[in-house]
Amino acid sequence: ASVFSAIAQAPEDSILGVTVAFNKDPSPVKVNLGVGAYRTEEGKPLVLNVVRKAEQLLVNDPSRVKEYLPITGLADFNNLSARLIFGAGSLAIQENRVATVQCLSGTGSLRVGSEFLARNYHEKVIYIPQPTWGNHPKVFTISGLVVKYYRYYDPGTRGLNFHGLLEDLSSAPQGAIVLLHACAHNPTGVDPTLEQWEQIRQLMRSKGLLPFFDSAYQGFASGSLDADAQSVRLFVADGGECLAAQSYAKNMGLYGERVGALSIVCKSSDVAVRVESQLKLVIRPMYSNPPIHGASIVATILKNSEMYHEWTIELKAMADRIISMRKQLFDALLQRGTPGDWSHIIKQIGMFTFTGLNSDQVTFMAKEFHIYMTADGRISMAGLSSRTIPHLADAIHAAVT
Ligand code: PLP
Repeated sequence: ASVFSAIAQAPEDSILGVTVAFNKDPSPVKVNLGVGAYRTEEGKPLVLNVVRKAEQLLVNDPSRVKEYLPITGLADFNNLSARLIFGAGSLAIQENRVATVQCLSGTGSLRVGSEFLARNYHEKVIYIPQPTWGNHPKVFTISGLVVKYYRYYDPGTRGLNFHGLLEDLSSAPQGAIVLLHACAHNPTGVDPTLEQWEQIRQLMRSKGLLPFFDSAYQGFASGSLDADAQSVRLFVADGGECLAAQSYAKNMGLYGERVGALSIVCKSSDVAVRVESQLKLVIRPMYSNPPIHGASIVATILKNSEMYHEWTIELKAMADRIISMRKQLFDALLQRGTPGDWSHIIKQIGMFTFTGLNSDQVTFMAKEFHIYMTADGRISMAGLSSRTIPHLADAIHAAVT
């Protein structure tokens, strides 16, 4: 008998499991709206032209070798990433009080940041929105933090439960960590307005709550890199501390390259130096140092003004296609006279729509229409095209009538 014979079968990941089910379905009309990865109008994965260009430059540069990066990653990449999220003119950067380390995409940045907090910060409780990206509670728990939830989404209005959010953060213990989605909240597509962000900031600063921003969609929500970073910049502008986990998976289409950054904004440069030294202690036994290729692509693009500009145009095109999918789906449901108010489809932003469909309806749509989404009714707008929208609208119509 195997020494492993008693090992139990683990459940499929709730998001990646959707793709497993999709792959098993032989139907030619099947549609996968589960995973948050951008697809072209033809339903194909997209590698940005500017990324291809950067890769060509890298390949043709004979001075490039495959040596290990430092524990903290590529220095250029780190500096440029901090400027991208905090803004080129950020006082915190000018004053050298930001510690930035290259990590394995958004997930790795969250993982390193939360283990750093678990080891070095006095308060272990992290408040995360209800609902949130399914991996958040797992990442934070395994890092040694204690997860609690704050109210975020109101199913009645399919909008923000701002009152509940303020109430829950008000009753959080002094110093607690609060996870905030910088923009394009996943899975709801519902973000606070700038005025609401300001109220959240005031409340959090008055209670000494520590903001930990998850920025997985900068530029992908509105099409503007600056507009999508406003929430983070609001908090950094007041001179207080915050953490930010950045991912280049969506906005540069570098999903599988696993490239991201963790920044910790401190109040002085000597604290930032000590923070960085502790980050190295977290990273070294975890994976020693990060991979070189993806970070080199990002650094190449960010430091060349022409390529940077080209990136912003390709990024906006992706964001615009998603926004147009929202409009087309909304119109298709109106056309069919599908019962209910579907205006949240055009109000929500980012990659996902939180449809409001329940798990029975989700199951029905997979079985009868071969359309796959997460059980909470979240659909990836980036996986839709003009070709698949009528089919999806038919399915939603059938599911709710
Ligand atoms: N955070 C949120 C809210 C996400 O939606 C995602 C990806 O779906 C991530 C973080 C991390 O993604 P990655 O590790 O691929 O950068």
